[in-house]
Amino acid sequence: MSPRVRWAATAAALLLGLPFAAPPANAEPPAPAAPVISLSSGEHALIRFRLADQATLDRLVAAGADLAARPRTDAGAVLADLVVDDVRLAELVKNGAVPVQLIQRESDAAARRPAVAKVSADTLKFLQAYWWTVGGRTFLQTQVTTTATDDPDVEITVTWTAADGSTGTYPLVRFEDSGEYQYHYALPQPLPGKPVRVTASSSLGGTARPVTPATWPGSTPPATPAGYQKDFVAAYMTPADIAARIKRLARQYPKLVDVINLPNRTQGYRRTAVAYLGDPNAAAVVVESVKFGDQKMNGVQVRTVDPGAKNRPLAATYADRVLTVRLATDDTGKTISTTDDVAAFITAKYPRRFQAFVETGSAGLPMPVVAPVRLDDGLEGTEVSKKPWTVQALRIGKVRDGSRTGVLAYSQEHAREWATPLVTLEFAERLLANYATDPATRALVDNVDVFIIPTVNPDGANYAFNDFNFQRKNLVNHCAGASRDPRYRDSWGVDVNRNYTVGSYFDGYVGGSANCLSGTYAGTAELSEAESRNVIALASAHPNIRFAMNVHSYGGYFMWPPGSYKAEGRVTLPRPSIDESKFYLDSARRIVGAIAAERGTVTWPAYTGPVADVLYSAAGNSADQLYYELGIDAWDFEVGNDRWNEATGEWEGVGFQPPFDEAHAEAQEYAGGLVELVRIAASAG
Ligand SMILES: [Zn+2]
Repeated sequence: MSPRVRWAATAAALLLGLPFAAPPANAEPPAPAAPVISLSSGEHALIRFRLADQATLDRLVAAGADLAARPRTDAGAVLADLVVDDVRLAELVKNGAVPVQLIQRESDAAARRPAVAKVSADTLKFLQAYWWTVGGRTFLQTQVTTTATDDPDVEITVTWTAADGSTGTYPLVRFEDSGEYQYHYALPQPLPGKPVRVTASSSLGGTARPVTPATWPGSTPPATPAGYQKDFVAAYMTPADIAARIKRLARQYPKLVDVINLPNRTQGYRRTAVAYLGDPNAAAVVVESVKFGDQKMNGVQVRTVDPGAKNRPLAATYADRVLTVRLATDDTGKTISTTDDVAAFITAKYPRRFQAFVETGSAGLPMPVVAPVRLDDGLEGTEVSKKPWTVQALRIGKVRDGSRTGVLAYSQEHAREWATPLVTLEFAERLLANYATDPATRALVDNVDVFIIPTVNPDGANYAFNDFNFQRKNLVNHCAGASRDPRYRDSWGVDVNRNYTVGSYFDGYVGGSANCLSGTYAGTAELSEAESRNVIALASAHPNIRFAMNVHSYGGYFMWPPGSYKAEGRVTLPRPSIDESKFYLDSARRIVGAIAAERGTVTWPAYTGPVADVLYSAAGNSADQLYYELGIDAWDFEVGNDRWNEATGEWEGVGFQPPFDEAHAEAQEYAGGLVELVRIAASAG
C-alpha cells in the first residue's frame, strides 16, 4: 500500500462513525452553502475544508494529511487547507468535512510558474580581457575561469564583438599546473578591429558576465629626444667580447663607471681529460684525469698490456705521460683482469692523478689489451682562455656611494641565451652615451645607481659558443661514476637559476632536480656554484639596490615573485601584498609599454605576472632570493617574444639564438624596458 492510499484509508476510518457535531442550536446562523467542488480522476487540488473541531483535524494530521497552512478557526469549526485528490476529497466529504474553497488546482501551476532559466552546472568569469594593435593588426587575449574546476572536459568559447559590429568566436584551452586547475586561455587572437565586448559560455551551460576588453599595456614611455643614441650591439658577444666591452666603457666614461670584479671566480672553460680504454660498444673502462685537461693532462696516454707471463698480478706504471696497466694472468698465461678490476686498480693506485670507472654495459667483462689512447678534455674552443673567469659587473651612476637608489640588471645565467647580454650592454651604453646630450638620461644617471652583470655564466657561454649551442647550465660537473661517461658531456653542469636559497629544490619546491644530467640540476647544495654566489654577493654588498631584473630568453614573459611552489597542494612562496602586487603590475605595464615602443612587440598580458602563475615553478631561482631575502623588487624578463606570421596565422617562437637581426631587435626593445625600470627607480626615490 502506498503511503498516500494508506493515509486516505486511515483518514476515512477515523472519520467513519464520527460525524461532525451539528452546530448547537444557539450557534450563529449556519455557514453559507459550500460551493460544489469536484476533481477529475487523479487530479490534485488544494482545498480549504471546514472540520468539526480541532480533534478532528488532529486525527487527520496524525494520519498523514497534507496540511498546507496553519489552520484557523471559524465559528467554532476549524478551517484547514489540505492537498487532496479526487478520491480523498470524496472520502472527506462523505465523513462530514465540508470543502469551502478550491484554492488551487494542480493544473493552475503551469500557467503561473515563472520561466526559470535552465540551471547551469558552472559559472564563468573573465580573469583577463585585453586588446592591442601591432602593425595594423589587432589582437585580443582572454583568460576565463569556470567554477567547474574539476571537470577536465568543460569547453569554453569566447565570443567577441568588434566596434564595427563584426563578431566571432574562439575556443579556450584548459590550463592545469601541478595537477591544479588554473584557468582557460588562448593565444592572442587576430581581430578585424578593436573589440568592444566579449562573452564566454561553457559546454555545461555556464556564462560569464560580458566584459569590455581593456587596452594592453596602456602605457607609452616618454619620447626620446632627437639625437638620442641607440644601437650599440653589432654581433653576438662571447664572454671575451663582453669583457672587452666592459673595459672600453670604463675607459670611455671614467666619471660614470666602476668595474666591479665579483668575488667568486668560476671554474673556467675547462674539463678533465678523458678517454675510453677499450671499445665502448664492447668492453671499456673510462679513464679520466683528476685535474683539468689544460693542467698538463690533455694528451696523457693510457694502455693495457698482456705481461706475457704466467700468474702475474694486476700492476701499473706511470712514466713519461703514459699510464701502462699490466693485466693479471692465470697459470696458463691468459689475462684474467676484468673491467671492474682495472677501473678500481687505477683509481686506487693514482688517486691524485686518475679516476676510472666501468663504462655502462661493460661491467664484469674481460679487460681487453688496448693500444695507447690519449686523454683529452674535448673542448673545441681553442681561442678561449682556460683560466678561472672573473665575472664582472658594471656600476653606472654619477654618485656611486650607495646613497642613490640601486637597480641591478643581470643576464645570461643560462649559457645559451645569447641575446641577453646584448640587452644589458645596449642598456648600459644608452645610459652612458646619452648622458652628455639628453637631460632626461642625465637626470636618471645622476639619481640612480645602476649595476649590470652582462654574463653571469661565462664558462657555460663559452661552451655554448664553441661546443654545444644548447648548453644551459654552467660547466661544473658534479656527476659521479658512470654518468661521467663523456657521452653525457652536453648534459653536465648546474642550472645556475636553480641554485639559490629561497624556495629551492632542497626546501622541497618544484622545478629543480637532483639529477646531475638534468637541465634543471640544482647543484650539490644551495649556492654551491660561484655563479649564483656572485649575484647574491653583489646584491648583498649594495643594500641600496631596491630593484632587479633577471634577463633570460626566450618567449616574451615579464614576471615577478613568487617563482616556485611545493607540489603538495601547489603552495607557492608567499604572495606579495596587494599594494606590492599593484606596484608590480603597474610597473610591468610601463615597462611592457617601453618594450613595445621599439618595434611594436607586445608582451602578452597572459605572460605578465608571477613566475609560478604564468611560466612554471622554478625552485631556487635568483629573483626569489633577491625578493624574499634581500627585499629587492625582483623581476624577470624572457626576451624574444613570439612573432605573428600573417601568412600562416600562427605565432612563431624565436629561439635562443635567432638570426642576429632578431637578437639585435630584442636587445633594442628590452634595453628600452630596462631604461623604463630606471625611470621607475628614479621616481621611487
Ligand atoms: Zn633562462
